[in-house]
Amino acid sequence: MDVFQALTGGGGIRFDKNRFARDVQLFHPHLADASASGSSPAESSKQASSVGGQNGKGTQASIVVPKELDFFGSAAKTGKLEEDGTSDKAKGKRKRVDGGEDAEEDASEGTGISEGPVTKETLSTFLKANRIRTKGTDVPFPLASWRELEERWKVHKYLVRNLHGTGWKTPTPIQKGAMGVMLDNRDLLAGAPTGSGKTLAFLLPILYHLGVPAAKKEGFRAVIVSPTRELAQQIYEQLRKLCQGRKWRICVLNNTRVTQAEESADPMTRKKYDILITTPLRLVHAIENNELDLSNVQHLVLDEADRLLEQNFLAQTDSILAACSHPKLRKALFSATLPSGVEEMANTFMVDECRVIVGTKDAANERIEQSLVFVGSEDGKLHALRSLIQEGKLKPPVLLFVQSIERAKELFHELVYDGLHVDVIHSERSKVQREGVIQAFKRGDVWVLICTELMARGIDFKGVSLVLNYDFPQTVQSYVHRIGRTGRAGKQGEAITFFTKDDAPYLKTVVNVMRQSGCDVPQWLLELKNPSQNAKKKLKRAPIERKDVRVAAGSIVGRKESIRKREMKEGSKRRKRKEDASNKAEARGTGKEPATVV
Ligand code: ADP
Ligand code: MG
Repeated sequence: MDVFQALTGGGGIRFDKNRFARDVQLFHPHLADASASGSSPAESSKQASSVGGQNGKGTQASIVVPKELDFFGSAAKTGKLEEDGTSDKAKGKRKRVDGGEDAEEDASEGTGISEGPVTKETLSTFLKANRIRTKGTDVPFPLASWRELEERWKVHKYLVRNLHGTGWKTPTPIQKGAMGVMLDNRDLLAGAPTGSGKTLAFLLPILYHLGVPAAKKEGFRAVIVSPTRELAQQIYEQLRKLCQGRKWRICVLNNTRVTQAEESADPMTRKKYDILITTPLRLVHAIENNELDLSNVQHLVLDEADRLLEQNFLAQTDSILAACSHPKLRKALFSATLPSGVEEMANTFMVDECRVIVGTKDAANERIEQSLVFVGSEDGKLHALRSLIQEGKLKPPVLLFVQSIERAKELFHELVYDGLHVDVIHSERSKVQREGVIQAFKRGDVWVLICTELMARGIDFKGVSLVLNYDFPQTVQSYVHRIGRTGRAGKQGEAITFFTKDDAPYLKTVVNVMRQSGCDVPQWLLELKNPSQNAKKKLKRAPIERKDVRVAAGSIVGRKESIRKREMKEGSKRRKRKEDASNKAEARGTGKEPATVV
C-alpha cells in the first residue's frame, strides 16, 4: 500500500489508480485483485505471486526468486525464498519513515525544534548529533532552529514567512551547518547526502545578502550554476517560492539553442535581472557573445560542484569564474560527492573557505535500501527486469538508468511492447519533449522512466520508490547520485543495481558505498578486491561495451538493426582506409601533400 500512498499523498507525484487499474494489476497484483474482487487484504496478499496478463498476453506465473539472483535476501522479505535473516537485519539498521507530511520533517533529523542557539560549550555535542564536520578558520556556529534566522541575522520577514509556508519545521543538518557560513558571507565547500535540502541552504542566504531587488539596472548580483537544465529549472522553482512577496528578477538560461530573438536582443536588457540560474555551456556562450556582464556578481554557487569541476565542464567553469570579476565575490560549492581532487581544485580559487560535511563523505543516503543483483550476462537483464515486475518488486514510479542514449532508446523500444507505462529521457530529446516527460512522470502517467546520466544529479522527484541501475554505473559518484533520486526528504527508497560478469571487477566500489551507508553486505562481497586506479579511470573514460538491448533480448528486428549498424560502421572504416590509401598513392605520384578527405 505504501507505494500508492506515496503516489497519492503529498509526495509530488499523483497517480490515478482507477484509470490505471490494468497497470496496478501488472505491478502489484494483490492490490488490483483486492480492489476488483473486494477480497480482504489478507486474502489478497496470498495471491501476491500471481501475475495477471497484460497486452492480451494472458500470462499467469507463480514466481519464486532463484537463490543466485537474491543476493541480499530481498526476495526472502516477501516470503519467496527461505528466510536467512539478512533482510530483517538490514531493515533494523534503517529508520522507519512514513509517507506523507511527517516524512518531510524527518528530512531534518537533528535534535528537535526546541533547541536554543549553539554555544561554545554545546558546539561539539551539537555537531556530533547532527553528524556535521567542519574545517576552516573561525567557522561560524551552526544554527539550531529557524528562529535564529531572525534573532541572529535579522533575516527579512518575507523570507521567514515563505520558509514557514513550506511547513518544514526544522533545518536539515546541512542547512544548520552551511547556512550560518553563507549568512556570515564566507566561502563554502559543502557536502551532504542526496535529498537532504542543499538547495535551500544556498538560496536563502543569497536572498538575504541581496536584500531587496536592485532599484537601478545593476546587472546580475548572484549566479547559480547547475550541470543540467532540468536541475536549473528545479532550482528556479524553489527560488520562486522563496521569493514570494518581493519582485525579484530571475533569469534562467539553459542549453537550448539560442533563438534569433534572443540573439538580437539588446544585451543591456539582461541588466535588469538580479539572479541568474544557468547551465555552464549556455552561460559561457552568453559571455563569449557579450550577451551579459558578470562583473557585478557577488555570490556564485556551483551546485553539483564536483560534476562542474570534471574534465568536460572544467574549461567552462573556469571561464565563468574568470568572468565573475567582482573583488567581493563569494563562492559556494555544493554536492553529495566531493572527491579529494575536487577539493584540492576548489582550494585554489576559494578564499579562506569553510568546509562543512554532513555524514560520511561520498556515502549514499542511509534511507535507501540498496541491493545488487547478478544477472549473468547482458542476456539476463531483461529476464531479471521482467522477474522484478512479476514479483511486484518494480514498484512505480521507477527511474531506470542505462549508460548511453543509444541503450536508452533500445530499452524503450523493448519495454514499450510489454504494456508498461514507460518513457525515456535523454539529451537528444527536445526541450519540449523532456519537459513533457518529466511532467508525465510527476503526474503518474509514466511509471518507468528510462534515463541516462542526465537525470542522475539533483532532480527531486519526491515519490520515486525505486532506482534501478540497469547498467552498472561508471563511477562511484554516479552510483551515489543515481540512487539519490529516491529516499528524498526523509522518505524511504530502494535501489537495485544489476551487474554482469563484465561489471564484476568494479563491484567493490558499490559494495563500499553500501557498507558505508549502513547496508548489510555479505562477507564474500566485502572480501572482494577494490579495482585498481587505472581500471577505475578506464571505466570513467568509457563505459563497458554491451550487447544491443534488443539483441540480448533475442529480437530478430534488433539483431538486423545491430548488424546494419555494424556494417555501416565497418563500411565507413573501409571507405576511409581506401580513400587514405588512394590519397597516399596520389601524393607519392605527384609529390604533393595528401588531399584532405571531406
Ligand atoms: P539536495 O539538493 O540535498 O539533493 P534538495 O534541496 O533537492 O536536496 O531537497 C530535497 C527535498 O527536501 C526537497 O523536496 C525539499 O523540498 C525538501 N526539504 C528541504 N529542506 C527541508 C527541511 N528543512 N525539512 C523538510 N524537507 C526539506
Ligand atoms: Mg541538489
